[in-house]
Amino acid sequence: RAKQEGRNTYRLFRAEMHRQDRGRLELETALRNTAETGEGLGVHYQPLFDRDSGEVHGAEALLRWHHPTLGHVSPGDFIPLAERSGLILPLGERLMHLVAAQLRDWLSAGLAPPRVAVNLSARQFWQSDLVTQVRELHAAYDLPPGQIGFELTESILLDKQQEAIHTLQALCDLGCRVAIDDFGTGYSSLSYLQELPVTTLKIDRSFIQKLGESRGSSAIVAAVTGLAKELGLRVVAEGVETEAQLQALSRYHVNLIQGFLTGRPLEAATFAARYLVRDGAPG
Ligand code: C2E
Ligand code: MG
Ligand code: MG
Ligand code: MG
Repeated sequence: RAKQEGRNTYRLFRAEMHRQDRGRLELETALRNTAETGEGLGVHYQPLFDRDSGEVHGAEALLRWHHPTLGHVSPGDFIPLAERSGLILPLGERLMHLVAAQLRDWLSAGLAPPRVAVNLSARQFWQSDLVTQVRELHAAYDLPPGQIGFELTESILLDKQQEAIHTLQALCDLGCRVAIDDFGTGYSSLSYLQELPVTTLKIDRSFIQKLGESRGSSAIVAAVTGLAKELGLRVVAEGVETEAQLQALSRYHVNLIQGFLTGRPLEAATFAARYLVRDGAPG
């Protein structure tokens, strides 16, 4: 009996695996089509506020995907798949063009958009022509130097450290700002951090959310912000959802706030209506 039950469980397990494989395959096929046509891809913009002045200092571009039958698919589901399958390269390229075109529209309409950061995954960062792509993108859309910046996770920078530094320096020479995303969750050595031509650390939202509740999180926030201050790096607290979290952050060296409390990711038109001002320059 036990054996029979075991066999049934195994069969159920197999059936479930099969269902999951099919689901994944379907999702991958759909994503492949989307990468080819660009249909259903969009970008949301989330503001980053200067903590002291309260001004919008930047925005993060976040990829959105709406599929006709699957509906809205969360980046948490499709980005990992895009990374595994390599589809992140065409998707990332589409995203960069969408962002550049949007920034061009805003500039041409006389608005003063802030710098916009796009997320780069490992494969994108390690493309041999990344720096050329970025330079050409700014030229093609006639954007001011550094209008588009980047966010990368620590883990990307752990391999091939000298090459990573070289690419970061080249981006920096173009005027682009680079932030380390989800900081605190990886394993960067502190001495390496000091060598990296990056401008900003984004403290991972998991630490912000447990701030004040967990001693460990407070200790990490204290350590990261203290270090950033010493190294002259800007710090973003991401995932700030409550007044209490904002309040708890007031004792640390934090320059920028990003989170649902201060502003959710929005469609471009809503973002512009809410946050963009006319460029003060005459003409
Ligand atoms: P991330 O780069 O750390 O982006 C921040 C994520 O936190 C976004 O989720 C944003 O909507 C969410 N968020 C912001 N404030 C809050 C808050 O106060 N509370 C909570 N609970 N969440 C907040 P989203 O848009 O779902 O993106 C998830 C992840 O997917 C991103 O994490 C990023 O790693 C990845 N991703 C999104 N767009 C792209 C892209 O164009 N390229 C690549 N390579 N990755 C992307
Ligand atoms: Mg990010
Ligand atoms: Mg982040
Ligand atoms: Mg994160």
